[in-house]
Amino acid sequence: MLIENASNILKRISHAAMRAGRSPDEVKLIAVTKTIGIDTIKEAIDAGLRVFGENRVQEAQKKISDLKLEISNSNIEWHLIGHLQKNKAKYAVQLFDLIQTVDSTGLAEELNKQAEKIGKIQRILVQVKLSEEETKHGISEEGLMPLLEAINKLKNIRLEGLMTMPPFFEDPERVRQYFRRLREIRDDAEQKGLKLPELSMGMSHDFEVAIEEGATMVRIGTAIFGERNRH
Ligand SMILES: *Cc1c(COP(=O)(O)O)cnc(C)c1O
Repeated sequence: MLIENASNILKRISHAAMRAGRSPDEVKLIAVTKTIGIDTIKEAIDAGLRVFGENRVQEAQKKISDLKLEISNSNIEWHLIGHLQKNKAKYAVQLFDLIQTVDSTGLAEELNKQAEKIGKIQRILVQVKLSEEETKHGISEEGLMPLLEAINKLKNIRLEGLMTMPPFFEDPERVRQYFRRLREIRDDAEQKGLKLPELSMGMSHDFEVAIEEGATMVRIGTAIFGERNRH
């Protein structure tokens, strides 16, 4: 099941990329394992998946250390895709290869400080909020350039791009405008001299649209692992 789901998703990623005149290896699959147990994650590793996304530091901490006891596959990458509180920055820096949800100067500075302490260059994305939904985290469009410029001064942070989590619509075509907007914002920032190669956007039900609009990372849970129990 899992192996079929994964290969089906990889095929759809390739097709979407080619439809958009892009190379399939420009798009990385982030398998979202929140609420998924480590036995299933091991199956996913056996199926060839290597990059995993978690949305809570504590949950990830337990899974990552449990998995390390059982397998020593060093080319597995862990991404944090959920909101990060400053007081957990220290643990996030220890655990994650890429933190996708930086949305304030304060958080970036704390990550920089913690990364410096352990001699790490922490890769990050900045999460952008493109709609007025109150529950969504992320920096506003107006706040973005000052934040990016502040982050660029931090020596132990490597800014690699932008991430967004648009509102949910049943019809993925209605999400297209948000994906397009993130790409435009990125292109504007690059015109001003910043380098932001990565665009993390698109989930199970809308990743193909996201790829057509320029996504380089798609974050997919349900379509690989099945419906989650809500928590
Ligand atoms: C859960 C989650 C996903 C994956 O959602 P699916 O619809 O299960 O693919 C992607 N991004 C973030 C930030 C998430 O929290």
